[in-house]
Amino acid sequence: MAQELIISISGVRGIIGRNLNASIAAEYGCAFGTFLKRNFADRKETLTVCVGRDSRSSGPMLASAVTAGLCSAGIKVVDLGLVTTPTTGVMVKHLDCCGGVMITASHNPIEYNGIKLLLDNGMAPPADKAAQIKQIYLNKDFALAASKDCADVTLNMQSYQIHINKVLQIVDKYLITSKGFKVVLDSVNGAGAPITKKFLAELGCQTIAINDEPSGIFEHTPEPTAENLTALCEIVKAKNVDIGFAQDPDADRLAIVDEKGRYIGEEYTLALATKYILSKKNGSVATNLATSRMIDDIAGQFGSKVIRTAVGEANVADAMIKNNCIIGGEGNGGVIDMRVGPVRDSLVAIALTLQLMAETGKKISQLVDEIPSYAMKKEKFKADGDLAKRVIDAAKQKFVEAKIDMTDGIRFDFDDGWLLLRTSNTEPIMRIMTEALDETTAEKYVGEVEKIRCEVT
Ligand code: MG
Repeated sequence: MAQELIISISGVRGIIGRNLNASIAAEYGCAFGTFLKRNFADRKETLTVCVGRDSRSSGPMLASAVTAGLCSAGIKVVDLGLVTTPTTGVMVKHLDCCGGVMITASHNPIEYNGIKLLLDNGMAPPADKAAQIKQIYLNKDFALAASKDCADVTLNMQSYQIHINKVLQIVDKYLITSKGFKVVLDSVNGAGAPITKKFLAELGCQTIAINDEPSGIFEHTPEPTAENLTALCEIVKAKNVDIGFAQDPDADRLAIVDEKGRYIGEEYTLALATKYILSKKNGSVATNLATSRMIDDIAGQFGSKVIRTAVGEANVADAMIKNNCIIGGEGNGGVIDMRVGPVRDSLVAIALTLQLMAETGKKISQLVDEIPSYAMKKEKFKADGDLAKRVIDAAKQKFVEAKIDMTDGIRFDFDDGWLLLRTSNTEPIMRIMTEALDETTAEKYVGEVEKIRCEVT
């Protein structure tokens, strides 16, 4: 049986040709257009939405279909072409659009694609608004325009430079340029390569780019985790460069490899960015429940407060706005700086890391080693809602001594670490995350969950 299309707060995600196709995308475009018309009913001018896509070969097909749906609801479309997710976020605000659409399935395998929605503030819709859009889609309650009111499509090829200029404003371009950093960039043949190569050139870096054809043919499994980045690590080591950067296919996440070719883990991306920002200015930090305690340690050094949220970019961005945070993001390598936009942005993460290296004169390995480290384990297993519930119920009975937080999934806090169990918003899987003072303890908690899974399956 075909798997059900996933419609969540993050948008729509599915497998092309199986449960995601042009007619679904067109109707989803109609639904989003209808929602925007109702929400901006007081605006006199024709509403505009910008549409971008990552490098998957199904991207042009889905982008055209969503565009057709939006135009049929009387919404003008600005076609951004091949762009990163954060670029689309920047362009929504730059062009004063009432919304944005990004065609991407982020780090999912190549057979997937998705439709991610942004509102006029550049953020994903909050839960209530996402539910309204879903209902319009399911009820086919579309407000379609008459012939004379069908809107048109224009192309915009300026987005790379506009995004780059915004990121350059948050660092000292001349200081970074003076260092002449040597960099290896792995963009996994996603949307990140063209803009990031240009960006690194503007920062005076000598860049060796690998997997830099935005063909959508992912050279390795796209999630920027250690096991997928062995080639990058080897090249960094062999070419004697200062740092290696790896992006996911829509370039909102960044993983870092140090000058010795050591994969340092995505958790350090936000930790390094936070360290730099807090060293300059006092302010609060927002991050999700699944992010490492390193953030608390760094914030503690500067007397800053950490606000923890449910997992998901929109939750973090929302907390950043409400608490006026000066930096935020997620431990999966996603850094948010509101001066650029409320979207996780690998260009922001690259800029802040290079700035930290340039200002301190330290190697990336030294900067990493200065941050107190923990052992973190991330695992996942296939689980529908029913199995996930059985695992959570059994875990509650097993870890009776732990402090429980149910903001998102279930988090158990122990004296020697924490364990988070949550289902994914975009795939039928359950994620296990644990962090402890040492490797053995972290492995022990993962093992306990494995045992529970076997017992309840
Ligand atoms: Mg992504």
